[in-house]
Amino acid sequence: MKKKLIAGNWKMNGSLAANDKLLKDILVGVGQAACQMAVGVPAVYLSQCQALLAGTAIDLAAQDISAHEVGAYTGEISGAMLKEFGVRYVIVGHSERRQYHGETDEVVALKAQRALGCGITPIVCVGETLAEREAGKTDEVVKRQLAAVIHTNGHCISEVVVAYEPVWAIGTGKTATPEMAQQVHAVLRAQLKAASDHADRIKLLYGGSMNAANAASLLAQPDIDGGLIGGAALKAQDFLTIIAAAH
Ligand code: PEP
Repeated sequence: MKKKLIAGNWKMNGSLAANDKLLKDILVGVGQAACQMAVGVPAVYLSQCQALLAGTAIDLAAQDISAHEVGAYTGEISGAMLKEFGVRYVIVGHSERRQYHGETDEVVALKAQRALGCGITPIVCVGETLAEREAGKTDEVVKRQLAAVIHTNGHCISEVVVAYEPVWAIGTGKTATPEMAQQVHAVLRAQLKAASDHADRIKLLYGGSMNAANAASLLAQPDIDGGLIGGAALKAQDFLTIIAAAH
């Protein structure tokens, strides 16, 4: 059976001291987890977290990757650089990057391609805004976002992880109900099935105010293969509770 994946997204949070404590607390409590695990840390802390996670079952994730390979792109970080720090996953197309950094569907698709080319698994985020949901456009929006990634990545699409993150649920405390999330996941799964013979092995994560209290019911849905966790990933006990719910 496909193992679930619980991935934390620390966003722009942390410090050397706070990261050290958080990861040590998680490692002490995690035991033999049934799921795969990762933490997405700010780029400046990759080296520190690589050392703290060495030899453990928790993988390292980055929060972004350049769409370019190398060269005059001030401030950007390439896939090859991430790879040098043991990065296994990279979040691409998070709604905060789409919203605040103008990332288009095409840029997100290129970033996913760049990650795959470096042997890093992209966690591709898709999701609708509240206005789009209220206008009945949820399926149209997530399918358009995913279609760009499928178009650019061809048969390699079976190597990505997809995270459905309704924008209105991120950091707001409002979660999609398990049924609402499952409905969109089923749409995404059908789209992936049409694009790949291996769609069943693609992990579809849910993200958006997943927490210790609601994780089990979300993770029980047939097409929810894990979670992308923001706020709750910054509290060791909450993150551990979510990990324990992912079996
Ligand atoms: C996220 O940033 O990907 C996220 C899901 O955040 P939160 O869990 O805080 O809503």
